[in-house]
Amino acid sequence: MQRALRRAARSAFLWNVEARDLVARKEPLTQLAHVGPFLQKQIRQWIRQKQHPLRPPPLRKEFFTLAESRMRLAQFPSWGARLRGDFQMHTRWSDGSGDVRTMAEAAFAHGYEYIAITDHSKGLSIANGIDETKLKQQSAEIDAINRELRAAGKNLTVLRSIELNLNPIGQGDMDLRALHSLDLVLGSFHSALRRKEDQTARYLGAIRNPDIQILGHPRGRIYNYRLGLRADWGTVFGEATRLDKAIEIDAYPDRQDLNVSLLRIAKRCGTRISMGTDAHHPWQLEFIDLALAAALAAKIPAERIVNFMPLAELRAWVEDVRCRKTRRTHKKRRSDVRSKKSVTSQMQQEKVRSLFHARSRREERAKRKRR
Ligand SMILES: [Zn+2]
Repeated sequence: MQRALRRAARSAFLWNVEARDLVARKEPLTQLAHVGPFLQKQIRQWIRQKQHPLRPPPLRKEFFTLAESRMRLAQFPSWGARLRGDFQMHTRWSDGSGDVRTMAEAAFAHGYEYIAITDHSKGLSIANGIDETKLKQQSAEIDAINRELRAAGKNLTVLRSIELNLNPIGQGDMDLRALHSLDLVLGSFHSALRRKEDQTARYLGAIRNPDIQILGHPRGRIYNYRLGLRADWGTVFGEATRLDKAIEIDAYPDRQDLNVSLLRIAKRCGTRISMGTDAHHPWQLEFIDLALAAALAAKIPAERIVNFMPLAELRAWVEDVRCRKTRRTHKKRRSDVRSKKSVTSQMQQEKVRSLFHARSRREERAKRKRR
């Protein structure tokens, strides 16, 4: 009984209609995955007698269902229309079930302009993490697929990335040259996720890690299984904003990490948000609606969402975040000779850069209109 309930609860995320709507329409609940006659009777009873808890326990708090997300998105169609890609997915190179090509085909069917292939790095052996040699082979495969896509006139770019496994002080497990050869690096914690004490220090370590641009599934929560880590989120998001890094909404249904409450804090801090499905099968790219709905609910401004950027702007952002690191070290070295003049020239550079961004955005919009 417990097992049947747990199974139904997990698949409820993906039901294309809410059980309460079926009950209201007097339609059978057995059309829902993992609901048999026995559970149907039980769920009906809960809904009719309003016995389902109004306040879910913390382990099940702030999770959307796909049906609910789609209802929210349907009210603001222009929001989902801005989406250009997905920044977290796995292939057979680590623990996914599809290969790069099938992920790219699924992404093209979604109308995406880009996707990032983020297989696990070597430290996560349980997920068959890949080492530097395999990463290089994968990059060659991705390059070949990108050439094929261009030859076929398809406007989709597969970005070479990785889900860098971070240790509990925010350090990665891969050779830096390998990381620098990638288009984008996502870093995530996969260990010591049940610690009760405040973890702000580990998040600051991860955000200050110069080799990552996106922090993946930040809390490490899992529906009905693990609460995730605690931190002073204002400090964490503030530091991400200062270094212009992005924090992820992992849209995997039983993660949904960041959740809406934390996204509201990120919004106040002006932090960039990245959305990734963490798909391990091509069909799972559809989980992205869970992330879109969460960002919408938290009222994240569109210009703070990395997945809404045209590809050229995305590349410029990654480059800028990578350069900040060198600019900072230069600044430190030359701090004694830092003058007003250099600050002014830096401001001028920023201005030129933002003008460039505004121009390329305009051009991109115009191009899209022409198409
Ligand atoms: Zn992960």
